[in-house]
Amino acid sequence: MNTVRLYNTLSRRVEELVPVTPGKIGLYCCGPTVYDYAHIGNLRKYVCDDLLRRTLEHAGYEVRHVMNVTDIDDKIIKAAPGGIEAIRRHTAPFREAFFEDTAALNILRPHVVCAATEHIDAMAALVAKLVESGHAYESEGSYYFRIAAYPEYGRLARLDTAGMMAGARVDVDEYEKGDVRDFALWKAARPGEPAWETPLGPGRPGWHIECSAMSMQYLGEEFDIHTGGVDNMFPHHENEIAQSCATGAGFVRVWLHHEHLLVEGRKMAKSLGNFFTLRDLLSRGHDPRGIRYLYLSHHNRSQLNFTFDGLAAAERTVHGLVQFMDRLEDALPSLEPGTTALAGRVAAARQGFFDALYDDLQTPQALARLHDMVRDVNASLADGSARAGDVEGAREALEDFDSILGVLAHERASLEEDVERLIAERQEARARRDFARSDAIRDELLARGIVLEDTPAGVRWRRV
Ligand code: AMP
Ligand code: ZN
Repeated sequence: MNTVRLYNTLSRRVEELVPVTPGKIGLYCCGPTVYDYAHIGNLRKYVCDDLLRRTLEHAGYEVRHVMNVTDIDDKIIKAAPGGIEAIRRHTAPFREAFFEDTAALNILRPHVVCAATEHIDAMAALVAKLVESGHAYESEGSYYFRIAAYPEYGRLARLDTAGMMAGARVDVDEYEKGDVRDFALWKAARPGEPAWETPLGPGRPGWHIECSAMSMQYLGEEFDIHTGGVDNMFPHHENEIAQSCATGAGFVRVWLHHEHLLVEGRKMAKSLGNFFTLRDLLSRGHDPRGIRYLYLSHHNRSQLNFTFDGLAAAERTVHGLVQFMDRLEDALPSLEPGTTALAGRVAAARQGFFDALYDDLQTPQALARLHDMVRDVNASLADGSARAGDVEGAREALEDFDSILGVLAHERASLEEDVERLIAERQEARARRDFARSDAIRDELLARGIVLEDTPAGVRWRRV
């Protein structure tokens, strides 16, 4: 097990991760609100979560990754007025689209994906518990969290709650720090809005209660890491901490907040109209691996200013890495056995890459080690000094890096599938003596830089 250090928003410091259960990590990541397609700002957040999960797994932890899907909140009701069926019809395709997008970005699927509307009873039970402990009260069928009953309120976002008006309430899910009030846990049924029958009476949950109820349901009352974008810190996560006080347990050990993606200096947001979806970029011919790499080349706590030049540079880098991997494989058969001093430098680069990740996910430093290694190996291949053991070590290091980066194997897997399918189709064409079709397939592959060789052992392919 390697030691991992992470920046904890609670303490505003980088701290050594000390899990509740040795060797295991409970990780809860705030998920999408499925009222529309995710934009590439939202998707940055999920790549950052993926980076965190893969880094923890690489460090030797067994991670249980839980993510919610918000399929009921103010935004959704606005987009799909009506009852439960109306929001279900509206959200289902966006939920599916979200997982298509995350798959295209090679984001590992969480072990548990939990939808708010499937956990209404757990939320209602948590609200009832808060009423019982004196932290919540009812007013006209809605339930509110009584901030005055929780003196620690404001610890995460570092709020000054001294001058707050006791008893003033806020009903909307999203509001600013200046509006710190008793917030809605449960909203009484209103005409034209979905409502569920529960012991609290008919109504629907506020946004914040879902993440408290579901995280504790799947990870226990105290767990290791909870993530979100920086905008989730207040009020969402502040309120989650407050709501969890009903249990008396510690709730979350590390709060981790990813910075935003910006466009021309402003947060990319639907409300500002300055957004792109992944679909927009793919339809313009961009490469999802380049987008993933672009995200990873910035530290998760730095803002990332999105530009098309930046994306093009990231795409070139990924293509360069794919070619480098091919170059290593092509070189190997003709190299002398053994190793040189290069092998030691490759091992040091590999160590340096992971040391940087284990130390607060410092991807820019990790990538610098990777590119140093690429230059070093290329130079040794060019001057003829590299031996097979050196190159084998570099190949293994690159595969190891890619267990985090996820830009090489992903391409290989999808490319291989594609090429194998075309080869099989070409074999069928030849069997039925349709040489026009078999030649057309050969030409199509050639145009994509793939050469076929007919050998006694069957058809083989390589990249040119
Ligand atoms: P939503 O689907 O609106 O609930 O947002 C999903 C996630 O995306 C949240 O964790 C937000 O913090 C995050 N997010 C929203 N806008 C941006 C942005 N411009 N850059 C990075 N993350 C964002
Ligand atoms: Zn959440």
